[in-house]
Amino acid sequence: MYINYFKNRLELPFVSLIVQKYGGTSVAGPDRIANVANRVVKDWRDGNKMVVVLSAMSGETDRLINLAKELADEPDPRELDVLLATGEQVTVSLFSMFLRGQGVPAASLLSHQACIYTDRSYGRARIIGIDTARIREELKKNRVVTVAGFQGVDEGGNITTLGRGGSDTTAVAIAAALKADLCEIFTDVDGVYTTDPRICPKARRLDRISYDEMLEMASLGAKVLEIRSVGFAKRYDVPLRVRSTFTTHPGTLVTAEDEEMEAIPVSGVAFSKLDARVTITRVPDRPGIAVRLFKPVAEANIVVDMIIQNTSIDGLTDLTFTVPKGDLHKTLALVKPVTQEIGAQQVLSDENIAKVSIIGVGMRNNAGIASRMFEALSASGINILMISTSEIKISCVIEDKYGELAVRVLHDAFDLENPPPKKK
Ligand code: ADP
Ligand code: ASP
Ligand code: MG
Repeated sequence: MYINYFKNRLELPFVSLIVQKYGGTSVAGPDRIANVANRVVKDWRDGNKMVVVLSAMSGETDRLINLAKELADEPDPRELDVLLATGEQVTVSLFSMFLRGQGVPAASLLSHQACIYTDRSYGRARIIGIDTARIREELKKNRVVTVAGFQGVDEGGNITTLGRGGSDTTAVAIAAALKADLCEIFTDVDGVYTTDPRICPKARRLDRISYDEMLEMASLGAKVLEIRSVGFAKRYDVPLRVRSTFTTHPGTLVTAEDEEMEAIPVSGVAFSKLDARVTITRVPDRPGIAVRLFKPVAEANIVVDMIIQNTSIDGLTDLTFTVPKGDLHKTLALVKPVTQEIGAQQVLSDENIAKVSIIGVGMRNNAGIASRMFEALSASGINILMISTSEIKISCVIEDKYGELAVRVLHDAFDLENPPPKKK
């Protein structure tokens, strides 16, 4: 067992300790790496202690995955992680090399050197602790410390990766472990918007968003922050900002909820095409059936999202659920034999679906939000296939060809383009 190092306090007389993370487009080539390095040096010259987490160059992780698939249909997970971790090794070394060339003291650290410990779930490893001693040692030498994002090391010394977008999590976890004064996620947009600005030109940048809303937005498809990074930020109270690498705008602060936020019923719209739908028809409606269907799926580590069971007619019902598209084939292989055993009729599947969601902490105190959502979708002729709700979100599964239209329609329906009126 590892000791959890998150409780360590950084006992150094720092002006401020800042952890910054730069994503793939921000370090996409030599010029961009130099641009990022110059930004970092400016903050360092201002007297801040700097820890910089970098992603691989944009497109590199995909390129590596495709390379692996050329040699193996199902690449071995351990070896795949060894391969994928190289993307970040390239950027951190180039970055530190550039800084050293400018006479700035710098050191790059890979996960085993930065002591980022994870479990052994290759491809989706979870950070279980960080021993910050080495990072602190480098900071004491007044070096700019650069840490490879997305990668960790397990108890046996094997390289692991944290899942797509995982460099955000590396940065926030390090910020939590160091009790940094600020964690800044630099990307290709200048903050968190009411929805993806690439889909909806009317999207509005938010000055602030609550941890809980950001968690929902991330889990429902807004890839601007990886979900686990938000979880860390919330749990360890990390002051988190999302900013652009290409402007000086302060961006969006992700922070604890307050009264002003609670007054706004809907603060964002999220959209995802990552799920597929499975329907089992004429399922016998009696105790024990659901567990027989879902247990093998859970045991295969497949995350089931929405589940809908209809009212039964003559003791038979239809059961529909969603799973990640990448897990659809495996899911079908698991449920088909059970379907036969229990005497259900057939298994249908559909990959052409999208999930559109509205999110807002103010939903707790405002009635009629769901009906406004359904009304807006129906006015545009968009049929709802499935619905799920939680305290602060409502999601609808629709045909994927309507996904982007639905985002724009909902953005208009809740007037997200305009900032909410300020309370006097
Ligand atoms: P990076 O490579 O820097 O980690 P990502 O591509 O992972 O960047 O995340 C940034 C992208 O997230 C943006 O380019 C934008 O298209 C998308 N995005 C989705 N939803 C939102 C949102 N609500 N606000 C801002 N960006 C969003
Ligand atoms: N390079 C990894 C990815 O593309 C991690 C990251 O960029 O955050 O998913
Ligand atoms: Mg990202």
